[in-house]
Formats: sequence, C-alpha cells, structure tokens
Amino acid sequence: MGSAKVVVAGSINMDIVVRAARHPQPGETLLGQSVQFFAGGKGANQAIAAYRLGTPVILIARVGDDGFGGSLRAFVSQEGLDTQRVLATAGASGTALITVADSGENTIVVVPGANDALSPVDVEVDIEPGDVLVSQCEIPAQTIEHFFVRGKRLGARTLLNAAPARPLAPTLAAAADVLVVNESELAILTGAAVDAEDAGTVIAAARSLQPAIENVVVTLGGRGAVACLGPVSETVPGRRVEVVVDTTGAGDGFVGALAARLAAGEPFAQALVFANAAASICVERPGAAASMPTMAEVLAVL
Ligand code: ADP
Repeated sequence: MGSAKVVVAGSINMDIVVRAARHPQPGETLLGQSVQFFAGGKGANQAIAAYRLGTPVILIARVGDDGFGGSLRAFVSQEGLDTQRVLATAGASGTALITVADSGENTIVVVPGANDALSPVDVEVDIEPGDVLVSQCEIPAQTIEHFFVRGKRLGARTLLNAAPARPLAPTLAAAADVLVVNESELAILTGAAVDAEDAGTVIAAARSLQPAIENVVVTLGGRGAVACLGPVSETVPGRRVEVVVDTTGAGDGFVGALAARLAAGEPFAQALVFANAAASICVERPGAAASMPTMAEVLAVL
C-alpha cells in the first residue's frame, strides 16, 4: 500500500542575505561585501523535506507577482514538487532581509507579503483519510484553522509547527492533533521557564499544553527531542554529529520528516526517532531546503 500524502499550507519566502563588516546605525549607509538570494520559507522547506523522503506532497502557498514570484515557483518545481497550488497574488512575495555582520550576528526583517493572502478557500484541496496536514505560523491563523478543521472532518491528521511562536486561539489548538515547537517557542507559548538541560521543565511545560493538543513534541537542538503523546512521554537523544555546519532548516527538516513518516503509517515513537535522525543530517550541511536528506541518507544513520 502506498503512503498517504502530506499537505503543507505554508509560507514561501525569498531570503536576501547581505554580508557587511558591521550593522549600520540608523540613518547610516554602509558598503556591504556580498549579497545572496536563497529561496525558503518554513512551508516550502517542510514540503521539500517530506518530498525528498519519497512522500507524495502538495504544497499550498502564495507568491507575489514581483520578480521573486517566478524564482520561488522555479525553486519548488526544480525539486520535483507540483506547483499547481503555488498561487500568484498581486504585490510582493514573502521576503526576508538578513544582514550578517563579521561578528556572525544577524538582523532579520521578514515581510510576509503574499503569504498573508493565503486564504481559507485556497487550502481546500482533496483530502483522504490518513493524510497528514502541516502548517506553521507564517500564514493567517484563520486559514490554518479552516485547513485543519476541514481536514480532520475528512479523516486527516493535523500537525502545527508553532513557529514563529504566537498565542494560539483555543479553536486552532483544538484542531491540531500534533504540535511541534522548539524550546524557546515552548517558553513563549506557555510562559513557563524552560531549560533544555532539565527534561522535567520541558515535559512540565509541554504537559501544560495538553489536553488542548494531544501530542506535543519539543525539539531541543543537539539534545534531540522530547514528546508528550497523550499520557506517555518519549525522549529521543540527539544524534552526535561530527561537525555542525549550519543549523538553518533543522526544525523544518524535523517537521517534514515527522509528517512523512506519520503519513506512511509509522507509529509515532518510531516517526520521532526518524525525524531526529533526518534533522541531524540537516545540520551537517549548508543551507535550509538544500540540506534536507533523502530516505537512503536517513536510513544510513539510523
Ligand atoms: P529549530 O531549528 O527550530 O530551532 P532545533 O534547534 O531544536 O530546532 O533543531 C531541530 C532538530 O534538529 C533537533 O530536534 C535535532 O533532531 C536536530 N538538531 C539540531 N541541532 C542539532 C545538533 N547540533 N546535533 C544533532 N542534531 C541536531
């Protein structure tokens, strides 16, 4: 039997990364050293992560009618993903302006642009029982809620990656079967003091989000992840990697891989172990979407 599909309704952005000796003062103009353009956004990254693992994936997103819209669509289709549901909207594409100083410190301004126009009607695609629906907090909350409520009615499972963290309406939380957050997002959502070195604080904070959301997964960087699955808690230790090259996209790799394995019908605890291994490979490579592993690559480290 083939896998059910993963449906991602989420963001797609162009990241413009400028390098400069230091950050400019307000009102100051600096000469920079380089500029690079990287297509990304949590929605697109997570869709690519699931797709590279051999899962059928639909990405639902909106790009602008500016110059970046075409590049963003090309970025998704180069991966082999279907772009039928990557819709165009008037105005600017989602754009992140990132300045990296020689110190390594960065400043980021993200403009949601077309992502803000992703509407409840846009997310009404064919859903079958067993499909896994994924979203993040970079599109309107009412769109996510409609996507999830409708999907659950049609027999799908729903996974919310509450990134960037923002307060969740009780109706949205009720429509999410699985929540995935990192430790700082968990602290923001719960208002609790969360210390990744003290699993007890993480589990206590995660438990405070239940029973609104039945399954709460917390990623802990190099420490791996912990999850409260109903009454059961699971701990997945981080995989030891030789050299951490670039942690960008690790969280997206984790979410995409978890969704892929849940869609394949894998038990939750096993899917977590798989997602942790997949995400650990992301940190060994540069880039976000570019660092997502294939099935063979994950199996090789499991
Ligand atoms: P985010 O990128 O959202 O901040 P995390 O930093 O928690 O998320 O990383 C997500 C997942 O990536 C972790 O749960 C783990 O599986 C993997 N990961 C992150 N950093 C490392 C690391 N240094 N070594 C091994 N795995 C890592």
